[in-house]
Order: sequence, then structure tokens, then C-alpha cells
Amino acid sequence: MAKHRIACLPGDGVGPEVIMATKNVLEKLGDKNDFVIEYRDFPNGAEHYLKTGEILSDSTLREIGKCDAILLGALGDPRVKPGILEKGILLKIRFAFDQFINHRPVRFFPGVATPISSAGRENLSLDFVRENTEDFYVGLGRRFSGKKDKTEMRLDRRNYSMEFKIKVEVEGENESAYQIGIISRSGAKRVIKYAFDLARRKEKRKLTGVDKANVITEMYGLWRDAFHEVELLYPDVETEFAYVDAVAMNLIRIPERYSVLVTPNLFGDILTDLGAGIQGSLGLSPSGNINPDGVSMFEPVHGSAPDIAGKGIANPIAALLAAEMMLTRIGEKKASEDLDRAIHFVLAERRKRTPDIGGNSKTDEVAAAIIEKLT
Ligand code: ATP
Repeated sequence: MAKHRIACLPGDGVGPEVIMATKNVLEKLGDKNDFVIEYRDFPNGAEHYLKTGEILSDSTLREIGKCDAILLGALGDPRVKPGILEKGILLKIRFAFDQFINHRPVRFFPGVATPISSAGRENLSLDFVRENTEDFYVGLGRRFSGKKDKTEMRLDRRNYSMEFKIKVEVEGENESAYQIGIISRSGAKRVIKYAFDLARRKEKRKLTGVDKANVITEMYGLWRDAFHEVELLYPDVETEFAYVDAVAMNLIRIPERYSVLVTPNLFGDILTDLGAGIQGSLGLSPSGNINPDGVSMFEPVHGSAPDIAGKGIANPIAALLAAEMMLTRIGEKKASEDLDRAIHFVLAERRKRTPDIGGNSKTDEVAAAIIEKLT
């Protein structure tokens, strides 16, 4: 019997509720498909931070690194300043395990009302592949006031390091700020390659490269060059470039135009929420932070949802779809397909669904209905 070690961080708010439901479903899938999951649970999140002052220690990171994958619930609490947990846990894990791909599927599910018409789009299948470690997220920036400012900044990455010596002289005392974005050819190529491989496996073999190369010419010009270089290896995949603003509009007007979209970090952050939005509920959107040769992390796109936490009504499907992605990555493809089928069944039936998609069922009732479909 196969055994998988999973690091589990339920986190805050509805996080523990959807993770509990997910663990129950995974247990049943394991019984049926002859595998067991051994969890290493970690308490990191807002509550743990407020109690102990610890966000995520290096020794915890080392423990997580011994696992096959990471399953995360949600992070965030009104009592903790925004950014502390995101930077201290999410970004720290992404960088530590070089999870350079953020893969977010967008699907229209049967019987779920969507804010744009789903008529004729029942089989809509979009996959966003967002670069996850570069661009404006590398953490190089500074605010300054006064006429002169001098600073040195360093960026260390697995394949390169950069040192910046910046000297600024301005007229007057206008407070200013700058943020440096970095794109490397190797960083762009590896994520674009993942996107091409994904496009090749889909029915609609098309990859859209998203950027803003007409204005941010240096960074996204290099992004395009990297795309062209990789493109030569995939003559069987149809390609196009699109500016991020046009993609935002078309995702509402004609989403079926797309299949796989590969984007730099910042634009991907924004577009993937738009993608989640057209699906009908945040409670249906999963996300995989992937390193194909390392430890990947799977999570629902939604946050801790403090407004409904503790009520037992959070939709567990986003977390379950994240678990579905995790199962594929750890080699349990059959279980992943079983889970997908069961989720579709339960949604199509419309009997058990949480309030965010128009029902009145509880989190655990939806999980139980999905388990029932697995037998
Ligand atoms: P963050 O900044 O961490 O993303 P947020 O408050 O912007 O947090 P969410 O916590 O995801 O975003 O909540 C946004 C809205 O979506 C809330 O009204 C919340 O109740 C709803 N929501 C989020 N997740 C779920 C879920 N699993 N089931 C039902 N509703 C959800």
C-alpha cells in the first residue's frame, strides 16, 4: 500500500473547517485506491502567531521539506496586520521550495450560477499558469523622502544573484517610492515550458502569453523572447500574445477564446481572481504552487472568510479541488479522477450545496455527499 507524507497547515478562519472535510474525503479515497496519507500537522497561522510570536521558523520549514506535498487551508485574521502572514508563511514557503508555478484551473461546474452567461460554455476549461517567484514580488523596493537617497539591495536566487546600488537625487522634498521587478530568461522559460506541456495535454491546444510588453518593455520584452524560444519546441500548440488589459476584458466577454494562459507574477495574481470570479464562487477555486521536482503546495484560492468562520457553512469544494491537484502530483491519478467525478455529481444533483452557491447545506454534509458518491 502506497504511503504519502503530507504537511498540513489548516491555518485560520474557515481553513480548519475545509481541511477537516478534505481529510475525511481523502481518507475514503485512500481506502478505495489503496493508499494512506500520513499527515504532519502544523499550527502556523494567525492564532499561533498571536499566542507565540512565531510566524514560520526555519526548523518548521525543514520538517515541511521532508513531506511529499503541502496542503494549506487559509491564512488571515482581522487582528493581524495584512502582509505579515502572507509574507511570513505563504511567500516564505513558495521561495523556500522554489514553487515557481502557480497553477489555477477555472471551470464552469454543472448547476452553478455564474455572473457571466454559462449557456454554451458548460465545458469551459481555462488554466492559468502564473509565474510565482519573480516580477514585482521579489521584495526589492524602498520609500524615501528628502532630496537624496542611497541604498544597496541584493537579490539571491537559486540560479543568480543581483546587487543593486541605487542613488536617487530629487528636486524638492516629495516623498517617493520605487519597487524593482525582475524577470530572468531562465525563470520565464521554466514556467512557460510547464504551460506548453499543459496546453499540449488539453483538447484545445492553445497557449496565450499574457504581458504588457508595449509599456513595460524591458521586463515583458524579455518574457516574450523567452516565450518565443520555448515555442519552437511545441509546433503542435497554437500560440498568441495578449496584453493583460485585453485579457481582463475578454475573460468576461469571450472566455472560451482561451485555454491555457501563462502570465508574469503580478498580472497572474489579478487575472486569476477574475478567473475565480467568473466561476460563481470563491469556494470553487483551487490553486497549486508547484515545483515539478520538489515539494508543492496546494490550497483553496479563498482566504479565511472571517464573516462565515465557525458557522460550518464554508464551501469545501475549493479545498477538495486543491486536494485533487495534489493527488495527481503525488501519483494518485485514479483517486484524483474519482474525486473529480464525485464533485461534479454532487454539484449537478443540486441537493447538497453550501449557501455561497445557493444551498443551505453544511460543510460536512457536502463532504459526506461527495464521500457517498465515491462508494
Ligand atoms: P484574503 O485577503 O485572505 O483573500 P478576503 O476577506 O479578501 O481574504 P475571503 O476570506 O476569501 O477574502 O472572503 C471573501 C468572500 O468570499 C467572503 O464573503 C467569504 O465569506 C466568501 N468565501 C470565501 N471562501 C469561502 C468558502 N469556502 N465558502 C463560502 N464562502 C466563501
